[in-house]
Amino acid sequence: MQDFDIAVIGAGILGTSAALWAQMRGHRVLLADPNPPGSGTSSGNACTLATYACLPVNDPSVLTGLPKLMFGPESPLAVSYVHALRNPRWMLSFLANCRAARAREIAGHLAGLLAHADAGLNPLIAEAGAEDLVVSRGQLSIWSTEAGAEGAEAGLALRRDFGVPFTELSAEEARAMEPGLTLPIARAVHFTGARHIRDPEELVRRLHARFIALGGQWRQQAATEVRADDTGVTLRLGDDTVTAGRAVLAAGAFSRRVRRAGAEGLPLGTERGYHLLFAGEGHRLTRPVGWGEGGFYAVPMARGLRLAGTVEIAALDAPENAGRLAYIGRKGAEMLGPLPAPDSHWLGYRPTMPDALPVLGYSPTSDRIIHAFGHQHLGLTLGGISGRIVADLAEGRQPNLDIAPFRPGRSYAPL
Ligand SMILES: Cc1cc2nc3c(=O)[nH]c(=O)nc-3n(C[C@H](O)[C@H](O)[C@H](O)COP(=O)(O)OP(=O)(O)OC[C@H]3O[C@@H](n4cnc5c(N)ncnc54)[C@H](O)[C@@H]3O)c2cc1C
Repeated sequence: MQDFDIAVIGAGILGTSAALWAQMRGHRVLLADPNPPGSGTSSGNACTLATYACLPVNDPSVLTGLPKLMFGPESPLAVSYVHALRNPRWMLSFLANCRAARAREIAGHLAGLLAHADAGLNPLIAEAGAEDLVVSRGQLSIWSTEAGAEGAEAGLALRRDFGVPFTELSAEEARAMEPGLTLPIARAVHFTGARHIRDPEELVRRLHARFIALGGQWRQQAATEVRADDTGVTLRLGDDTVTAGRAVLAAGAFSRRVRRAGAEGLPLGTERGYHLLFAGEGHRLTRPVGWGEGGFYAVPMARGLRLAGTVEIAALDAPENAGRLAYIGRKGAEMLGPLPAPDSHWLGYRPTMPDALPVLGYSPTSDRIIHAFGHQHLGLTLGGISGRIVADLAEGRQPNLDIAPFRPGRSYAPL
């Protein structure tokens, strides 16, 4: 008999949600990570359950505005040229997915999955007694220029088509909701169905604690290799090996580094993102506010005011980019007025495929291995539903929604 029914690699929001779903269904589950639960990219994000965020970064405007986006000193997007030259296939594939028809198709797939996000996460929140971490005040998106306001129209129209609920606000209405904003407001939208988590790392810790309370096993160790045969898998954890019926690969942006799991050949990249934390400034806002032109969110959360976002396409092990942090600090003061020196800063690694769709399904090499990574800007939002899908797949069952668009072996650059 195998040591476990299911072995989950990675204790971010994805892996911990999958482990808890499977444990709740009575399976014998192992969860392994060299780092504490939720301490990776799942810790420092913009805290938003962004059920409205079906628009991928891949967008036709990236094609037309790319030079300005990349070269502008005030751009929310930065690309490392060394990295781009070393990874031409990823970059070309990313750009191929920016074509209008393709971007619309991607948005449709994301909207379909996002429609189930709350149904996947709410049972975990209830199971873990984490309701106190959830705030239901929606999300406010603002654009500060006429060009930005006009540019937002296509995306909002797409969301209308996909049934995403939102309310258009006047500048006065938006200011009445968030008097702390000092920006000019050319357009404002309240995404009424969104929620936010007061502390995403604490959420994962609570899910993990409940997993343990239900009898789940935890090993603070890296998995280096997974070997699959017809009956199950063998995982290498440090000098040790364990066996399981199935393995789940949920190591975020690092998933390609686990040998023989079938992910080494997949075009998993990273969109690096940053945050600044101002401990005593959480009172400035009451809900997450996204600034379209700025490319980041300002979020009131348990630890203070977090300014989180921007996209940097660079290598996983490239050094931190001080220019990105300075950009967020500068723009934060534009958005909210003068701010004190930040108390801390952070760099995280969104796991991103060039088509902006997550990877959910059996590994191309074996149905004993399930892939669950690549959730880009939406891992906090989609962790719960993806975890439930993984639990279905681990039981050999078809999930009750179509996951074909997310299969690991899909074409990532449809031309
Ligand atoms: C600035 C920023 C803002 C964001 N804002 C939001 C937001 O508001 N809403 C939202 O939904 N999403 C947001 N995201 C995205 C979200 O944070 C990610 O999609 C999500 O955290 C990814 O979760 P994960 O579990 O896949 O990865 P991670 O949280 O990175 O977890 C992966 C885990 O795998 C472990 N690991 C690595 N290698 C191994 C190994 N060999 N063996 C075992 N374990 C291993 C790591 O230690 C880590 O703990 C944001 C991201 C950033 C950077």
